[in-house]
Amino acid sequence: MAENTPTKADEVNPKSFQDLIKEVHEKGICGECGGCVSFCSAADIGAIKMTKDGPPKYMNEDNCLHCGLCYLICPEIHELNEELNSKYKFKPPIGHWKKIVSAQAVSSELQKLGTDGGVVTSILIALLENNLIDGALVAKRINSFRRQPFFAKTKEELKEAAGTLYDIKGPISGLVNYDTYVSTISELKHIVYSGNMKIAVVGVPCQIHSIRKMQELKIIPAHVVEYTLGLFCYENFKFDTATRARIEERFKFSFDDIEKVNIKENVIVDIKNREEPLRIEFSELKDIMRHACSVCQNFSNYYADISFGGLGSKDGFTTTLIRTEKGEKIYNLAMQKGYITESPEINTSVEKSKMLAKIITMSQQKIKRAEEALKLLPNG
Ligand SMILES: Cc1cc2nc3c(=O)[nH]c(=O)nc-3n(C[C@H](O)[C@H](O)[C@H](O)COP(=O)(O)OP(=O)(O)OC[C@H]3O[C@@H](n4cnc5c(N)ncnc54)[C@H](O)[C@@H]3O)c2cc1C
Ligand code: SF4
Ligand code: SF4
Ligand code: SF4
Repeated sequence: MAENTPTKADEVNPKSFQDLIKEVHEKGICGECGGCVSFCSAADIGAIKMTKDGPPKYMNEDNCLHCGLCYLICPEIHELNEELNSKYKFKPPIGHWKKIVSAQAVSSELQKLGTDGGVVTSILIALLENNLIDGALVAKRINSFRRQPFFAKTKEELKEAAGTLYDIKGPISGLVNYDTYVSTISELKHIVYSGNMKIAVVGVPCQIHSIRKMQELKIIPAHVVEYTLGLFCYENFKFDTATRARIEERFKFSFDDIEKVNIKENVIVDIKNREEPLRIEFSELKDIMRHACSVCQNFSNYYADISFGGLGSKDGFTTTLIRTEKGEKIYNLAMQKGYITESPEINTSVEKSKMLAKIITMSQQKIKRAEEALKLLPNG
């Protein structure tokens, strides 16, 4: 062999879906976000597909181009994180931010429809009505504990998608499986886009992370995503009827009596005929947490333009963390045009510090949980 002929060991093989199977699926940390399937280079000829209940799998391995795109955009893989951290000026544990505020929708209808202060929906409506977006990728409720990805193009459609999974309406006895995660980004590939199209995406941290990776790699159609509105997220839940029965027994309530569930530093359940809501610590719900969430370190959605949560705000208000210039621009637009409001009494510097302290504490708690869970993974 000539001296400079590359040996097998010298060859740089791009990673592929096989590596995702090994490094993510087999470790049980696939978040089922749908990113790999949605943006697979061989999507047209069919290489990988989502499964009904579990990680995606090969549909036809022979069609895989071994390009490694699915590997790069997976939020469970660390590739590209350095680039993103530098671009979004990431500082642990909550990332870069310009302003923190407790805000609320001006519209009383949106205050009612919203999970917290209805701020996310109000900003989306402001963007739509001021021709800054053609639509927004959101999650529309289809029944209690289930939403589906939805591309909303009108104010009415945005209102229909307001709230989170935790707005329970109607009896749920008929349900068999419960999953609070919505694979919103898989809907991106179904959006029929034109040259100048601009959209907003609402998502939990792992979803916004995937979108940022796609944008970094200039993967079409991630270029149409102009604004990212991120939700705080400590974890999502997945359970069946048997687990549900165990929860009912453990906490002495019936799911059919649930009026509302919200999530801040713990899970807050409003139950019919009970004066005080039931507050359940995340640590008591370990058996229904999606496994992927146990290794996730991002609570405050640090790559989003603006992040939102209930944590730190009074009931009926949304804690709003403005991070980027784009985020600042759209927040100010929504304020100036009268879609949202900040009440000065609850936005004193002391209250803001308290809000921030809570976000930092939750973020640190989530990082610690992830570090411990990572040690337990095979080859962790
Ligand atoms: C799964 C999940 C976990 C969360 N965990 C926390 C937490 O631990 N602590 C905390 O303080 N806040 C958490 N939040 C955020 C909080 O519940 C509110 O969404 C946030 O405060 C915004 O409230 P709002 O009234 O301004 O939003 P709204 O005006 O009600 O708008 C909410 C938007 O979120 C979209 N949406 C709803 N469910 C999902 C979903 N599953 N995936 C993607 N988009 C969705 C809706 O379509 C809508 O566009 C979580 C949210 C979700 C969806
Ligand atoms: S073609 Fe590329 S993106 Fe699709 S599965 Fe194969 S390696 Fe992944
Ligand atoms: S986390 Fe998302 S991108 Fe990664 S393997 Fe699972 S579905 Fe694919
Ligand atoms: S905890 Fe992390 S992985 Fe789980 S849904 Fe939230 S952002 Fe995604």
